[in-house]
Amino acid sequence: MLDIHTMDYGSISAGPGYRVELFTQGCDANCPGCFSRETHAFDAGTLMTIDQIMEAISQWTDKEENRPYLTVCGGEPLAQVEGVIELCEAFKEKYGRLSHIIVYTGYELDEAKELPEWRRLRKTIDGLVVGRFIKKQRFKMTGRKFIGSSNQRYVDLRSGKDLIYAAEAANWVAEDKKLWPTLGISST
Ligand code: SF4
Repeated sequence: MLDIHTMDYGSISAGPGYRVELFTQGCDANCPGCFSRETHAFDAGTLMTIDQIMEAISQWTDKEENRPYLTVCGGEPLAQVEGVIELCEAFKEKYGRLSHIIVYTGYELDEAKELPEWRRLRKTIDGLVVGRFIKKQRFKMTGRKFIGSSNQRYVDLRSGKDLIYAAEAANWVAEDKKLWPTLGISST
């Protein structure tokens, strides 16, 4: 079960390719200059079972022209880590190696690693964007939209080595050549 704020289909602002972007409801990260305060209150969204969410997602990802790329953000996804893991496991089970999952958290990497569910999360998803959003360090966006700040990091979990990249807007494109092909996906 997950408390959901909204779902967006075909997003280009949260990772490579056109993605399903799922915003969870409820956040305790307290980022300075948060851009999404309406997602902060807990128990204020729409409660959905994993089956219901998968059914909604599949209506988009099952179309021939779309790919099974999912980004979970918030709110704070790791405040509902059990449900997020269950969703990501269901997504991986359905789409397998074709799939690509990114989770955004306002938690720092060390905080995420302290969660009892960390090992299971790490095994399930492909990448984790970590760190508080700091408005003063917000990217100047060009081309692709990506809401983030320069202190945040993208942790590539697919390699099994926790490779850490700057999660800057330009890097989503620049890293495409270097990083994304190694994942077996392209940027569009
Ligand atoms: S994690 Fe996202 S929703 Fe939560 S405070 Fe930070 S920017 Fe706002």
